[in-house]
Amino acid sequence: MKELDISRSILKSHFNELLNNLTTDVVIVGAGPSGLVAGGYLAEKGIKVTILEKRLSPGGGIWGGGMGFKYAAVQKEAIPVLEDFNISYREDESGLFMVDSIELASGLIFGAIQKGAHLFNLITVEDLILRENRVAGVVINNTFALMEHFPIDPLTIEAKYVVDATGHEHDVVATLSRKNDVKLNTPTGKPMGERSLFAEPAEKGVIENTKEVYPGLFVCGMSTAAVFGYYRMGPIFGGMLLSGKKLSEILIKRLS
Ligand SMILES: Cc1cc2nc3c(=O)[nH]c(=O)nc-3n(C[C@H](O)[C@H](O)[C@H](O)COP(=O)(O)OP(=O)(O)OC[C@H]3O[C@@H](n4cnc5c(N)ncnc54)[C@H](O)[C@@H]3O)c2cc1C
Repeated sequence: MKELDISRSILKSHFNELLNNLTTDVVIVGAGPSGLVAGGYLAEKGIKVTILEKRLSPGGGIWGGGMGFKYAAVQKEAIPVLEDFNISYREDESGLFMVDSIELASGLIFGAIQKGAHLFNLITVEDLILRENRVAGVVINNTFALMEHFPIDPLTIEAKYVVDATGHEHDVVATLSRKNDVKLNTPTGKPMGERSLFAEPAEKGVIENTKEVYPGLFVCGMSTAAVFGYYRMGPIFGGMLLSGKKLSEILIKRLS
């Protein structure tokens, strides 16, 4: 075993996969539950999917239920998604289904990759490629470089479609709107800001508002609430899973 071989093999594998993803069908920004579910279902259909996550650990906000307690609540409608990702659950007397949040996070990450999605961590999407009034890809940088505010130029990934799955931050849509004189597909033409907590309409809203917000740019998961001015829902996760599934169905149609 030679040290040089270890280093060479790591670098070769990493850069081969990254080079192979410089043009892709779909870039999903954010590896939370909605992005992972969407990525898994799209990849399963043979669509090339690149998921970019700025943190070291993918999974977003599902590593804990409310206040970091271990169990996440999911409603009945989302059970097929849990089953498609081989995640176990049990019915509670409330009629909700309880999932070990660590199994949920790790199961969605593992499932998305096993289904064929390319998931890169420690990459932050800092901007978009905007061509002739259409989003055509993302501008990426190393998360550590951005944390330290190093003056390092970014790289780019071209994509047929980009998805903002960045959660509360709605980072991609916010950047598009802040930097460009564009009218989004929202009632005000701008991101509308998330409202306070009201679980039931929030869960419906997150699915309803999973859609194209600007040509080439879609939203799913919690960022739909921030973009379309909907309620937050607290620690119930069925809407996130179903939003990811709906997004995959829309893009499968577009790409076929
Ligand atoms: C760290 C964290 C903690 C949370 N804690 C709570 C909580 O305690 N209670 C609660 O009700 N809700 C919490 N939430 C939100 C809650 O988890 C959401 O309801 C649910 O997880 C949203 O799922 P999502 O798929 O929309 O995205 P999220 O789970 O929010 O995941 C979004 C992912 O996008 C990544 N991301 C963001 N911007 C970029 C970018 N520019 N480039 C690349 N990646 C990016 C984030 O790092 C994150 O992993 C939390 C979210 C996060 C990210």
